[in-house]
Amino acid sequence: MTPDQVRGRHWALVPAAGSGRRFGGEVPKQYLRAAGKPLIEHALDALLSHPGVDGVVVALAADDAHWPGWTSLQGKPVIACIGGGERADSVLAALQALPDGVADDELLLVHDAARPNLHAEDITKLIAAANACADGAILAAPMRDTLKRADAGNPDGNPRIAATEPRDGLWRALTPQAFRRDLLRRALEHAQSDGLIATDEAMAVERLGLHPALVEGREDNLKVTTPADLALAEFLLARHA
Ligand code: C5P
Repeated sequence: MTPDQVRGRHWALVPAAGSGRRFGGEVPKQYLRAAGKPLIEHALDALLSHPGVDGVVVALAADDAHWPGWTSLQGKPVIACIGGGERADSVLAALQALPDGVADDELLLVHDAARPNLHAEDITKLIAAANACADGAILAAPMRDTLKRADAGNPDGNPRIAATEPRDGLWRALTPQAFRRDLLRRALEHAQSDGLIATDEAMAVERLGLHPALVEGREDNLKVTTPADLALAEFLLARHA
């Protein structure tokens, strides 16, 4: 399937209200630059340049001083709203900021602001899978490395290996993650009222007893969390700029 053959039109939600504490530094990580533009601009351009995506709602921190104030990119609308204390709060805020006319059963794509290297073929695969699965679908990649569980360690040494965990059947969750609007809202509100901190949208949907589809995506759809990730993102983005 080519991007132009994607069925239906879809909005994307981009939670970008995190402080990027794990990266350190003054600038929130989604505003760090790679290959000539901020990571968030790469992420928004990747979504909006796909013919199946109609527009994006971005959830920003209340004190965000870096947002350039885009109202459109790639000729499509960009709506900004204020996010919340946890990722799920930010996604719920973005859901509320969708324009009139986005139906309850419309498929939405939730994508991390700090995931700049998203390719059109992955968006196409994800939308096709989510249209075929009522529980939604996420991009993901099978685990390749052997997994070790660490013990508590000691204060001045490396932790020791407590166990080797079976890797069969384990996948890394990526984004975008695609769900119908009403399911996503129900799942996030349910998780919120239970006090569950959902680190991705699928986790909240699973909590309802549902089973979103795993769609194998590109392994280079990386989330920038460390300086080494930023260097890798620079390399990957510069190649297809
Ligand atoms: O911290 P982490 O890398 O898991 O964040 C993933 C995405 O969720 C980032 O784009 C971040 O800005 C966003 N986020 C948010 N609101 C929060 C926490 C994280 O929009 N309260």
